[in-house]
This record gives sequence, C-alpha cells and structure tokens, in this order.
Amino acid sequence: MVAAPSPMGAPDASGRFGSFGGRFVPESLVPACMELETAFSEAWADAAFRARLSSLLASYAGRPTPITECPRLSAELGLDIVLKREDLAHTGSHKINNVLGQALLAERMGKRRLIAETGAGQHGVATATAAAYFGMQCAVFMGEVDVERQALNVFRMQLLGATVHPVRSGSRTLKDAVNEALRDWVASVETTHYCIGSVMGPHPYPFLVRELQRVVGDEAREQYRERYEGADPDVVVACVGGGSNAAGTFAGFAETAARLVGVEAAGGSAVGHGVPGIVHGMRSLFLQDEEGQVLEAESISAGLDYPGIGPEHAHLAELGRASYEAVGDAEVLAAFQVLARTEGILPALEPAHALAWVIRAARDKTLAPGTKVLLTMSGRGDKDVAQVKEMLA
Ligand SMILES: *Cc1c(COP(=O)(O)O)cnc(C)c1O
Repeated sequence: MVAAPSPMGAPDASGRFGSFGGRFVPESLVPACMELETAFSEAWADAAFRARLSSLLASYAGRPTPITECPRLSAELGLDIVLKREDLAHTGSHKINNVLGQALLAERMGKRRLIAETGAGQHGVATATAAAYFGMQCAVFMGEVDVERQALNVFRMQLLGATVHPVRSGSRTLKDAVNEALRDWVASVETTHYCIGSVMGPHPYPFLVRELQRVVGDEAREQYRERYEGADPDVVVACVGGGSNAAGTFAGFAETAARLVGVEAAGGSAVGHGVPGIVHGMRSLFLQDEEGQVLEAESISAGLDYPGIGPEHAHLAELGRASYEAVGDAEVLAAFQVLARTEGILPALEPAHALAWVIRAARDKTLAPGTKVLLTMSGRGDKDVAQVKEMLA
C-alpha cells in the first residue's frame, strides 16, 4: 500500500507548497539561499546535529515544555481544553526553538554573524539571545517607528550584545526591516546568516523554520496521547502572525483527524482579506491596496502585525486542511482576563487570539460541548501587562 502524501510534507524542488512559496530574490542572493538549503538538508539528516539541537533545547531552552489541562476554563466553556506551554520556554515563547536551530546551522556553515528583522522586538531579542549563547555577532534591523515604540526590547537586545539598526525607509516598520535585512545579507553573505523569524521569506526558510518548530507539535501529540490513552484532540488551535508556532503545531497533527485552526488578528487577516502577491521573496497572501502596495497590519498584539502569512498556510487554507479565523481586539482582551482568572496563566496577547476564537466557538456552538481542544500557548503575557492595563483603564 502506498501512503497518501502528507498534507504537510516538504515543498517541491522550487520551494513551493502548491502554488505558494518559491524563491523570489535578487540574483545575488540565489547562491546564499541554495547554500542554506543544502546545509539544512544535510544537517537535518545528520543524527549528530539533531542530537546536539535536542540537547540544547533541553538544557538551555527548557524543553520539553509541558501540556497543561485547564479544568476551570474547560468547565466554564463546556469544552476539554489543554494548553501546550511554549510560554514556559526560555525567553518566554516558541521563538527560541527557531533561533537556536538557525544559530547551530550558522555555526555548521562557518558563519559567525547573525542578522535578523524584528517588528515588536521579540524575534530580535530571541536572535540576540542565541548569538550571545554561541558567541556570535548580531545585528538586528528594526523600523524606526518600532524602535521608538519598543524601547525596552531595544535595550534588551543591547544588553545581549546586539547592535540595533533603525530602518528609516518606507513606513519605518517591520516590512521595511525585512527589506533592509535582505540588503545587508546581499553584502555580507560570506560571513553572515540571515535568521528569519517565521515561516516566511524565500525557500528554504518557510520549510526550515517549520521543521525547527515542529518540536512543538511533535511533543504535544506525544504528550497528549500519553495523557489521553492514545487519543488525539478533536481541534488544534494556534495563533498566526507569520505562522511559525501554528505551522510547528500543525505539523505534529497534520496526519491525525484533528481539525486545524489558525487564528489571525482581525486587522492582520491575510487569509481572510489578503490577495496573492510576491513579497519578501515568496508568493503568498498579503494585505494589499488596489495598486498592490502592501498595507500595514493592525493589531493590539505586535507579534501578529505581519501583513502576510507564510506560504504553507496559504496552501493549507486552499487545500482546506486548516481553516483560518479572525478575532477582534475586544475578544482578545476578554480572553486574556479569562485565562488569568480561571487558570492562573497570563497569556501573551498573540495566543490570547487563539483562545478568543475558542471562547467564541464554545458560545456559538461551532465547537460542540465536550470537544477536546489543544491550544498552543505560544508565549507568556508578562510583556503585555502594561498594555492590557492601559486598554482596560
Ligand atoms: C512572535 C510571536 C507570535 C507570532 O509569530 P508566528 O510566527 O506566527 O508564531 C505568536 N506568539 C508569540 C508569543 C510570539 O512571540
């Protein structure tokens, strides 16, 4: 018997997931992308590399992160909710899984400098953390507007030894920071690895980052089966900015019968309101105006304000293997408070989006009573407490 192809297999040779993905970069970056593709496929097939990464994830990042049952929240909603606790990982989110993997890969390629783009600063902080651990140089590109808005994260990166470059072009936010990082990479590719922060960018990044994040889904499935006598959840839910925590989570469950749901911010809903386009080296769905200019995403959670979505999610949406929902700021604020009150966990505003959808779906019976839900708690809410206080005032 021939097994059906997995809905989350590897992309084709040109880096496409269906009609999305690919590698749309200047001529000068093609060799760097190809070098990375080869290095990653060799490393990923090398048991010694995998063992080294696992041991680093265990001793430094605190893996495996637990799953946590939520009896009081479950009773309130009439569901059976379990959280995958990426909020308990070092630096407070799933981002550490990606940056440690890419730093280890950079080391293997003989590159001693990491560059990264960042919006809210979280991926910049994660990359600076990995660079500090490996004793590498680190430069982070950040829109000038974000540098002003996220002064504390700029200081964090500096404490970790990184240089932060304010980007003054365009709207001076995340999408301009990506362009500037790509520009640096063209000039520095001999010595530098570009550490992309989500399942986006030119091939092989969407695949590479998903594989580095699949530890979330693989662990969760194993832990869930152990806890529930071999059963899988009915629904697996994760928030989507670029889509890395969701892709890593979904990868663990793609071959189960679980329904996969990605939740976007209403003001950044690339699946709901985006159109196909080629931006940042990939073909995917982006919020664009009539002239095809990429729009700013708007969200109370800075980590979800990417105006596009990773190409594999666009493909999963097209296949119908995953569905994508959008929630508004008021629902997110309510979800933040509900989890704090019922379970003693302050979620980051990003995964509070995933919970907001679960709450809505419980109320309108989209999820039948008793539905078993696994939700990826992608990060902790400490960073958002001041903002929540202001919004509730
Ligand atoms: C960065 C971030 C996200 C969004 O990124 P994805 O690539 O979509 O996972 C979600 N949650 C938290 C806590 C984050 O820090």
